[in-house]
Parts: sequence; structure tokens; C-alpha cells
Amino acid sequence: MAPPITGLALASLQDTFEEIHSGHPHNAIDILEPRGTPVHAAVSGTVHKLFLSKPGGNTIYQFDEVGQYCYYYAHLDRYMKGLREGMRVERGDVIGFVGSTGNADPGTPHLHFAIFELSPDKLWWKGKAVNPYPGLVAAVKRAR
Ligand SMILES: [Zn+2]
Repeated sequence: MAPPITGLALASLQDTFEEIHSGHPHNAIDILEPRGTPVHAAVSGTVHKLFLSKPGGNTIYQFDEVGQYCYYYAHLDRYMKGLREGMRVERGDVIGFVGSTGNADPGTPHLHFAIFELSPDKLWWKGKAVNPYPGLVAAVKRAR
């Protein structure tokens, strides 16, 4: 995995996976960045679903190469121009831009980043959340 934000500092990462947000387990990591900061694909794979959700705003569900894990990017200000479902992306490609769409505080744009382990039926909305924090920390250390 590569950091979804270029130049991400370890100090910007907090393990909020277990926190309760809006009455639900967060099951994700929030990365606070200025609006418009490019968001990069954490792994190579396929853009599986572009979905506008009430809580998540503009979201991307990206499958890895083998469809074992789904990477989820939410509250995006907008998608990268030309991004579409079924499209192949390489690790590091810009896929969207940080924003505050959905239920994010407009004054605190951030990337809500989650990883879901897909079940054998590969349904993008039904994966089991795994904590992205350890992988993000390792990726940031490797990127330095
Ligand atoms: Zn979040």
C-alpha cells in the first residue's frame, strides 16, 4: 500500500478506527488535508464503484488486483476527471481530491479512508472493515 496523500506525516495519522462517530463505529481513518489535495490510489486495481452517499458524499470503492480487499475513499470534493467505474488504476494515480462532501464538517475537509475485506460474493457494500492504521503507518515510513 502507498499513502493516499503525498507527503503524509506520521503525526497526521491517528488511530480512530474504534471510535464511535455519529452513533456508528468509525471503522476508518480520517486524514485532515486542505480541500483540493490530490488523493492517490493506495494500491493498483480497479475502480469498482463511484457512489454518492448521504454520509460519505462523493466516494470511491476500489478493488485491489485480486479482489481481496476494497479501498474506500470518502468526502471527496470531486473525482479525478475521466475516472469511471471499471477503470484500471495504478498505485499512486490521482483518483480524486480531498473535500467535505456528505456529513463531513465543511470547515474540516478530510479523506475518510477505509479498507474492507471482501467476502466471496465480492459485493462492494458488504466487506468486513479492517483497520487501515498499521498499513498506513508502514506506508508512510516506506515513502520517506
Ligand atoms: Zn471518517
